[in-house]
Amino acid sequence: MQDYLDGATLHSHILGLCIIICDDVTKQSLFQVTDHATTALLHYQLPQMPDVVVRSFMTWLRSYIKLFQAPCQRCGKFLQDGLPPTWRDFRTLEAFHDTCRQ
Ligand SMILES: [Zn+2]
Repeated sequence: MQDYLDGATLHSHILGLCIIICDDVTKQSLFQVTDHATTALLHYQLPQMPDVVVRSFMTWLRSYIKLFQAPCQRCGKFLQDGLPPTWRDFRTLEAFHDTCRQ
């Protein structure tokens, strides 16, 4: 049995669950969030301090608790093309639409 959860496995588990239970907006939002989570896992690499990596990633992931309640920090809107701001800044955890984050 696998003793760790890599980004690709996490991605497929979340998407599998989402396909069963979610509406279209939630599905598209979670598709984007899981892509961002894969990027976050790459960002929070610190081989000498795995506890810091886990804590940082979980703090970042927890910022999605307000996925449908936080406006975009750039455009100020809750929805853009029907989707909420799905990107979270790695340092500040502020919410941005995928197209507003650059
Ligand atoms: Zn925006």
